[in-house]
Amino acid sequence: MSEQDKTLFQKIIDREIPGTIVHEDEHCVAFRDVNPGAPTHILLVPRKPIPRLCDSEPADQQLLGHMMLVAPKIAADEGFGEAFRLVVNNGAEAGQSVFHLHLHILAGRPLAWPPG
Ligand code: AMP
Repeated sequence: MSEQDKTLFQKIIDREIPGTIVHEDEHCVAFRDVNPGAPTHILLVPRKPIPRLCDSEPADQQLLGHMMLVAPKIAADEGFGEAFRLVVNNGAEAGQSVFHLHLHILAGRPLAWPPG
């Protein structure tokens, strides 16, 4: 991938721009959201630059499952293993602004439902 094509999150993963990384493994990287919506707001991002959840393929099943297993561990590491929220914004109209798939992990305050 050329530098020009790299997503913002790919640049954080590649340590080209700063990020507060809290977890990484061979499949994904997690770092703190720069504009947190809760006391804990972490973005879990696959190393593979899938733009949106709807762009994922059957071949991504293991990767997506891995992320669903890692997210609760990250929440637990933050002290919120019993109460956290996972959010995926898919598409600009759903609030997606960075087109590199990510799970928002939110915790640390009461989380109202439904979300806005
Ligand atoms: P979304 O709107 O679902 O695509 O989420 C993108 C998230 O990335 C937002 O919550 C932003 O606050 C966050 N964000 C944008 N730039 C950065 C950055 N440089 N480091 C960490 N988080 C960022």
